[in-house]
Amino acid sequence: MTDGGKRVVESLLMLVQELVLRQRAEILHALCSSGSAEHLEQVLDILLSRGELIIEDYQNIQVPGQRVGFSVPGRCSHVEEKEEEEEEHQRTSTQTLLAQRPSLVRELQGCIEDALRALVACGHFTSADCDDVRLPIHTPSQQARRLLDNVRSKGEPAAKVVLQYVQQKQESGSLLNQENWTPPKEVLKYQKKLSSSMSAQSCFLSSYGGTSHMSLDDIYTDGQLELAHNCKDVHGPLGLEDIVGTAGTVNAEADTVLVSGDAGGGKSTLLQRLHLLWARGTALQDFLLLFPFSCRRLNSERQELSVQELLFQHCCWPDREQEEIFQFILDHPHLILFTFDGLDELKQGFSDEHWLCCPTQRAPVHILLFSLIQGSLMKGVRKVVTSRPEAVGPALKKHLRKEVILQGFSPSGIDCFVHKHHRDPTVAAKVLESLQKNTALLGLCHSPVFCWIVSQCHKELLGCGEGGPQTITDVYLMILQHFFQHQSPLKSTTGSGWLQENLNTALHLGQLAFEGIGTSCYIFSGTDLEACGVTEKDICMGFLIQSKDMSSTHSKRFEFLHVITQCFFAALHIVLSNNTDRSTIPKLFEPPNRRATGLRSSTCFGACLPSTNQQEQAFKGEATSSETPNLQITATFVSGLLSQRHLSLWLHCCPSAVMEKRVRQVVRCLSKGMHKHFKSISPPVEGEKKSMHAMPGFVWLIKCIYEMQESTIAKDAMSKLEVDHLKLTYCNIGPVECTALAYVLQHLRNPIGLQLDNNSVGDVGVEQLLPCMHICNSLYLRNNNITDEGIRKLLAKVIQCDSFRKIALFNNKLTDACTQHFSHLLKTKQDFLALRLGNNNITEEGAKQLAEGLKHNHSLAYLGLWGNKIGDAGAVALASALESSTSLVWLSLVGNGVGSEGARALSNIIKNSTSLEELWLTKNCITRTGVECLIQALEHNTHVKSVWLINNDLSLEEVEELTQRESRLIF
Ligand code: ADP
Repeated sequence: MTDGGKRVVESLLMLVQELVLRQRAEILHALCSSGSAEHLEQVLDILLSRGELIIEDYQNIQVPGQRVGFSVPGRCSHVEEKEEEEEEHQRTSTQTLLAQRPSLVRELQGCIEDALRALVACGHFTSADCDDVRLPIHTPSQQARRLLDNVRSKGEPAAKVVLQYVQQKQESGSLLNQENWTPPKEVLKYQKKLSSSMSAQSCFLSSYGGTSHMSLDDIYTDGQLELAHNCKDVHGPLGLEDIVGTAGTVNAEADTVLVSGDAGGGKSTLLQRLHLLWARGTALQDFLLLFPFSCRRLNSERQELSVQELLFQHCCWPDREQEEIFQFILDHPHLILFTFDGLDELKQGFSDEHWLCCPTQRAPVHILLFSLIQGSLMKGVRKVVTSRPEAVGPALKKHLRKEVILQGFSPSGIDCFVHKHHRDPTVAAKVLESLQKNTALLGLCHSPVFCWIVSQCHKELLGCGEGGPQTITDVYLMILQHFFQHQSPLKSTTGSGWLQENLNTALHLGQLAFEGIGTSCYIFSGTDLEACGVTEKDICMGFLIQSKDMSSTHSKRFEFLHVITQCFFAALHIVLSNNTDRSTIPKLFEPPNRRATGLRSSTCFGACLPSTNQQEQAFKGEATSSETPNLQITATFVSGLLSQRHLSLWLHCCPSAVMEKRVRQVVRCLSKGMHKHFKSISPPVEGEKKSMHAMPGFVWLIKCIYEMQESTIAKDAMSKLEVDHLKLTYCNIGPVECTALAYVLQHLRNPIGLQLDNNSVGDVGVEQLLPCMHICNSLYLRNNNITDEGIRKLLAKVIQCDSFRKIALFNNKLTDACTQHFSHLLKTKQDFLALRLGNNNITEEGAKQLAEGLKHNHSLAYLGLWGNKIGDAGAVALASALESSTSLVWLSLVGNGVGSEGARALSNIIKNSTSLEELWLTKNCITRTGVECLIQALEHNTHVKSVWLINNDLSLEEVEELTQRESRLIF
């Protein structure tokens, strides 16, 4: 290196040191604030391996978050003596151990037990050494580090054994794939028993238990699975096995994968499918044992249990050698999978304040469960947990390996499900045809549970002619009628006769459901049924099914077909019962954080009541995690049942004066609830638009208003909303919510910007939004799983909407197939302002199509195509369309594979434009030639403020020189 070069490196190093010093606080925060010591320990591994940190200093560092202080075992003096004798030879293996520490930690963490076994077999480790390494309070990577530190203290031969072991492991792949490795006989026997009982439990769809037996194989339809976090490396839809696979892992240290989705979205069915496929040996074969748990069932466990008891009593009892089997499970965590269905149905919301480490210690079931999820207990065992999103708080999120969102059926999924449900293709075609005519119902069918109801009630659906069910209450009333008439087909079919005849059943089930919702109870004993007057005849109607229980030690227990069915019956109780307390409706509509215990009835369900004091405390406090969404669904049904459209149904069941009063109560609650949200709108910052950032509770109120189907209520609510911008990001908005939003927002007085970024709108939701497009001047749908088909329908509508000026579709599933529609929009709407299509799949073909439209447009000011693939040819096409634009202010072609040819063409825009202010060309492959063209063009232009060129094909020297020549170029 020349002297000049050395000086550059030296000054760079000084700069780096200075930077580290200056950012000391931020670096410390990043290393220590995640709640885990892992980041810090990884940095220490790297420093040790590079010799930047000596082992003595390493021993003195106190790692934050360590549950016990860690220390490297001291070396015994005879080892040191030996080291001196064989210095040359010893250096090799022990140094390799140090130099490769980061990768060795990664390799060893999945197979600590096997590595220990190898060390014991060679006589280098005693059982005390093993115990020291495998302390369950350490994470697997901490165990791996402890093992390495211990090995180091034992000297060269032990180090050699570890290196050999890792090498062999790399060569032979995973344990289960090793030809010469078979699990112990008793474990294989247990596996057989577990899989055969799981196969029997999961081969039929559970919600058909009360009516007919439909095999899962015949009806299972793939739902849409999406990663909750953006992941560049994952392309295309996720499959079932990807749930436990590595795709999209955000925290490799954690073992728990969350599958989140709305009630009725198919979470339990998805787990059931995984169980069945595993039991048959066709999926998840990396796992030798799979233990399925239902949180709903765990609720009724009143005993304190150890993990061993939890596994064997709740899943499958080993006929013999329980201790050996459990030891095997402890020794091979990576071969074990647990699934926990419905975490949101557990009475206690997730908390990581109390945790357990010891697998033999007994504890209340929820503490066991939370310890398993956070990994303090049985670290390394993979867990899949399902939950509704409302019940997932930050405490749980920080222990997640990844989150997968189940988004219900795609349009083709609905089609496929209906065909599977109706083997007769003409019936299937008719059902689908009637769905196409009823877009609100089609939106609902995106959720599998509604798809099932609609298919189940196809006769009623096809018989209802024009109109048909619009709301979830309509759909549930349809199934109520269907089930009631199914049991007594000869009785009255017209008017509300069917309800009158079965009123007692509705009231009995209603009371049971209501009491259960108030106490987070979803499984009922015979005594509970008796307490609510539920008879054998009521059970036969099919809304209650016998609860499946793998342990089969309990007496008969029942649950509602689905939790939404329970909410529906609870709502029926509130609307129809003569005993409904006057305060019930107002309490039901109170925001969750203010809702007290008033909804709980005085009857206590023995089987559901928790036993410990701590649990009782939780009970007396605020609504639990499972209650809030269920109470909200119940309130939505109450609104629907009290809609004027259904009042005639209740004529003979309840005095109309009482009904009218209940209606008034609901309307008042909705209006008050909306008002509270409007009050929270802060005054606009000077120069900015008045904006409302809505909370999920706002969407729920909108859904209740929709359920009432009375435009006067919607109009009244919207007349008081005076904002320019409505932000509903991360509000879990899917097609059903879109239908309700459009129904209500269409009554807004003035156009708004509607921001729905980061939801699950999808193509079905886009279609539902169309009725309110005339009231939108801008629409933000970033990250919403929208495809070209959704865009086709959206643009056909917005082209007719006078106020519509801006659209943002960053990170969706758009390809060149949608650009012709944008081109048409640009040609037609001469007041259109902003088009943002970043991070989609648009290539040079799409860019050429867009250019066609841009040629004829005189209004567009912002064009964003960041993260597409338009290349040079696309840039040339756009440049030629835009070179005489007098409106374009901002253009981004960041990360598009644009080279110097593209830059040369784009410089023509700079040359001619009188409006352009910013050109973004960061992350492309522009060389000096391209930049020269841009510089020349800038000489003639004073409007352009900056041209961004960070990360292009330029050397440091070129950057330095070019910056000096043109300060508006930013490298
Ligand atoms: P969740 O657990 O999300 O509340 P479920 O899995 O219980 O939802 O689904 C409700 C109902 O919807 C099921 O009983 C079944 O009838 C139907 N369903 C759900 N997922 C599927 C699927 N993938 N294929 C076919 N039907 C499904």
